[in-house]
Amino acid sequence: MEDLYAILEVPRDASQADIKKAYRKLVHQYHPDSHPGDKEAEEKFKKINAAYSVLNDPEKRARYDQFGTADANTGNPFGGMGGQDLGDLFGDIFAQAFGGGFGGFGSSRRQSASSPRQGDDIEQVVHVTLLEAMKGVMRDIDVMKYETCQDCNGTGAKPGTKPETCPHCNGQGSVRQRQQTMFGIFESVSTCPDCHGTGKIIREKCSECKGTGRIRRKHTIEVKIPAGVASNMRMRVPEAGEAGVNGGPPGDLYLIIDVEVHPDFERDGADLHTTLILTYPQAVLGTEAKIKTLDGHEETLTVPAGTQHGQVLKLKGKGMPRLNSKAAGDFYVHVYIEIPKKLTDKQREIIRSLADEMKAPVSDEDSGILGKFKRWFQE
Ligand SMILES: [Zn+2]
Ligand SMILES: [Zn+2]
Repeated sequence: MEDLYAILEVPRDASQADIKKAYRKLVHQYHPDSHPGDKEAEEKFKKINAAYSVLNDPEKRARYDQFGTADANTGNPFGGMGGQDLGDLFGDIFAQAFGGGFGGFGSSRRQSASSPRQGDDIEQVVHVTLLEAMKGVMRDIDVMKYETCQDCNGTGAKPGTKPETCPHCNGQGSVRQRQQTMFGIFESVSTCPDCHGTGKIIREKCSECKGTGRIRRKHTIEVKIPAGVASNMRMRVPEAGEAGVNGGPPGDLYLIIDVEVHPDFERDGADLHTTLILTYPQAVLGTEAKIKTLDGHEETLTVPAGTQHGQVLKLKGKGMPRLNSKAAGDFYVHVYIEIPKKLTDKQREIIRSLADEMKAPVSDEDSGILGKFKRWFQE
């Protein structure tokens, strides 16, 4: 397991401000926009974000410093980063297998089963259009997650009743067994079979949550996606993750941004690129071209006389906004000169005389396969 401080390249006693500074620098350095298709940079970027999500939170940082993990439930400092799909697939199965009393995978053996634990983090992908990434958008996001059962306040006991202290283990959750052997007395500790380690016995289960204390339900959360977001960015929505267990705090929700590809505009960081199709006379003589921008506005672009095929014209500051900044990228227009495949008789005549004037040798009117056929039939 990589050290989170090493990932952010800061000493263990770094101040929160230093951590933030180091994070900003590294995120800039490894941002996927600057390394398209580079898996290594993408992995590094994810690690940096994960390390920061722990070290930027004083509570999680303290837990990490103490236990070497930020997650109260698992031995994984990245918490519930396993991803949404795994949660969906295994969440219910685990909830059933362990009566919902455990937070998820690899529940810690350090803590007794009845101590409060933070709920798991949830990771979920949010798709936005390129225009939404430009403008920012309010989005209702549906999240399937556990919440504390309101009927029993999370105790799992039928309303009006309380979980009782397990008489078998006196609420310890574990039992000691002594065994007399020829080598002496052996003592072993094992999970209490009556309460399965919770230390509590529920005589009558809450019918709403079937004794688990939590209910899986669809939550709709309104989230503001800021202008300038890019694919693979992670947005943290604090405490919007899974409900805590035994009164622990909820986990966080991480939204992974996925910006859809646009047919007419290509994004490169904060810059936008598009194509402008010109006729030969327009490129030769120059023109005022109307360009449609991403947000549907029309910009007038001055195409100077003598513009070449493939030439790139720039509209400064008309690209994507930069995240958390008033600055914006630029809008690049790539000129494409279209050669017509069909001409009217008049156009053909004019172009022939232009070719004459330019002393450019051109094919005969009747050359080519069609011309040959024509002549063959006439002869
Ligand atoms: Zn309940
Ligand atoms: Zn017990």
